[in-house]
Amino acid sequence: MKELVCIVCPRGCLLRVDDDLNVTGAFCPRGKQYAIREITNPVRDIASSIRVNNRPFTLASVKTSKPVPKDKIFDVMDEIAKLSVDAPTTIGQVVKQNVLGLSIDIIITKKIDLY
Ligand code: SF4
Repeated sequence: MKELVCIVCPRGCLLRVDDDLNVTGAFCPRGKQYAIREITNPVRDIASSIRVNNRPFTLASVKTSKPVPKDKIFDVMDEIAKLSVDAPTTIGQVVKQNVLGLSIDIIITKKIDLY
């Protein structure tokens, strides 16, 4: 039996998962889906920011296009730390394709004008 707190919404239900992947404690079906995924293939979305080369003291927010396997989070964060971009930027702009061969892109989430 494993216990975990559902992070899908602020209610934070306490979930219990047995060896047969039966889930109790979920107020809604999303909690069951979350618990099974968390036990079998845990993933997380990553949001961060990168330097904007041609605008001093400016950062562009970025995120992963898909959730990242939990055991790859720090590797992906290391790759994001190497990135920078030139303004102007557009929301959805891909700054790194297929990071670490995971079929996940790093995309801009903030529009930044040149000046
Ligand atoms: S089980 Fe449903 S209600 Fe409970 S925290 Fe998860 S998403 Fe929210």
